[in-house]
Amino acid sequence: MYIYNTLSRKKEELKKTRKTLKLFVCGPTVYDSPHIGHARVYITFDVIARYLRSKGYKLYYLQNITDIDDKIIKRASELGVQPQKLAQKYTREYLSAMQKLGVIEVDKYAPATKYISAIVKQVKTLIKKGYAYKAKDGYYFDIAKFKDYGKLSGRTAEQAEDSVSRIDESVNKHNKGDFALWKFSKEGEPSWKTELGEGRPGWHIEDTAITNKVFGPQYDLHGGGLDLKFPHHEAEIAQAEAASDKKPFVKVWMHSGLLNINSKKMSKSLGNFISITEFLSKYPPEVLRWLFLGAHYRQPIDFTDALIAQSSAGLETLREFVRKARFVAEKNKASASSAEFRVLLEKAESDFISAMEDDFNTPGAVSALFSFVAGLQNVIWQISKKDAKRAAKFIENKLELYGIEGLGFRKISSKAAKMALQRDKLRDNKQFIQADALRKQIEGLGYMVEDTPLGTWLNKKT
Ligand SMILES: [Zn+2]
Repeated sequence: MYIYNTLSRKKEELKKTRKTLKLFVCGPTVYDSPHIGHARVYITFDVIARYLRSKGYKLYYLQNITDIDDKIIKRASELGVQPQKLAQKYTREYLSAMQKLGVIEVDKYAPATKYISAIVKQVKTLIKKGYAYKAKDGYYFDIAKFKDYGKLSGRTAEQAEDSVSRIDESVNKHNKGDFALWKFSKEGEPSWKTELGEGRPGWHIEDTAITNKVFGPQYDLHGGGLDLKFPHHEAEIAQAEAASDKKPFVKVWMHSGLLNINSKKMSKSLGNFISITEFLSKYPPEVLRWLFLGAHYRQPIDFTDALIAQSSAGLETLREFVRKARFVAEKNKASASSAEFRVLLEKAESDFISAMEDDFNTPGAVSALFSFVAGLQNVIWQISKKDAKRAAKFIENKLELYGIEGLGFRKISSKAAKMALQRDKLRDNKQFIQADALRKQIEGLGYMVEDTPLGTWLNKKT
C-alpha cells in the first residue's frame, strides 16, 4: 500500500503492522450547516478507513470538532444566541448529515471544549520552552523560534507574514505570522478560568492538544482538506514538535483536493454553498459518494449538474448489471464456470486492488469495475448460474466497500413480474400473437421489454 505524503512530497509505503494505525482528521468548525465541501473531505477519509480496514490494517480514527472559535462567536452574536447553543445545534446537524452520507468509520469525535485542560497544559509547555509569549490579548506562538516552520507547505516564516488565512490579527505580535494559542476573554464571550488566565483556546492548538492526549506526541496519519495545509497544519507541526521534541509529529500528511462549484470557489459572498441537506433533498447519498470516487482524492473536483447526472448514470449501469446477473443466476440451469469468465473476474479484482493500493486511486478502481461489466455486456445471458452469481457479488462487494450498500434498484412491480412469467409461457407454447399483446400491456405499465434466451427481461423506462 502506497500513500502520498504531503510532507515528503512522494508516495510512501504503508507497511503492514500489528500495531494500530492512528489517524486524525481535522473536523468542522460548527457555526453553520455542513456543505458538500465537508462531504468530500469526510467521505474521502471514510473510504480510506474502510479500505485500510478491509485490508486488515488496524485503525483508530479520531476527529475533532471545533466547537469554540471566532466564527462561532461572530455568528452567534449576529443571531443573538449563545455561542455554545449554536455550536451544539450545528454539531448535531453535522453528525446527522454524516450518518446520512454513510460516514461511519470515525471511532471518536473530540469536541475542543472537552479538552480545555489538555490545551492549557500544551500552551504552558510551549511557554516554558520559550516558543510562546504573552501579548496584551493572549498567548502567541513565535514562529521565528521554530526553524522548521513552513516545511509542510513549502513556505518560509517570512512568507507566512503575507498570509491572511485565519491568522489572528493583533497589534501585539512579534511576527505577523504568529498565531494565537490562548485568547484572553472579552466581554460577552465564552471563557474558561485557567492558569493561563480567563480565556479560550486559539484554533490550531486544539488539534495538537487532543491528539497528544489521545495518541501521544507522535502518530501515523493526519488527514484534512487541502485548504488547511497552511497555516493550520503548519501551525500544528510547530506546536507539537516544539512541545515534545518528537519528530516528525505526524508520519504521513494526507490532503484531499478542493471542491469548486461550476468552476468557482464555494464561498459565502458568491452565495454558492450547497448544503448536504439541500443535496440530499434532490439526490440519494450514494450519488454523492460515487461522484467523489470518480476523481482521485487529491485532485480538485468541479461540481456541476452534468457531473451529478454522470454519477447517477454510472451507478445505474452497475445496478442494471447486478440485476441482470441475478436474473441469470436464477434462470440459467447451466452451472459450469467458464475459463474466460474467470480470467475477466481475476483481472478486474487485481486491477481494482492495485489501483486502490496506489494512493487510493479510486478512478482507476472504478474503471476496473466498468471494464468488467463491459466485458460481459454481450455474453451476460449466456454465462452460467455460478458465474452470474459471482459477477453480481463482485460488484456488490466493491460498492459495499465504498459505503454504497443496498443498490436502490428500481422496483419492478409484482404485477409486471407476473405478466413477464406469463409471457414466457406463451412464448414457450409458440403463442406469439398473445405474447406480443402481453408485451404491449407490460410496456403500458412503464417498462421496457427485452427478449433474452432466459426469458423476458424488464427494465423501468427512465
Ligand atoms: Zn484541524
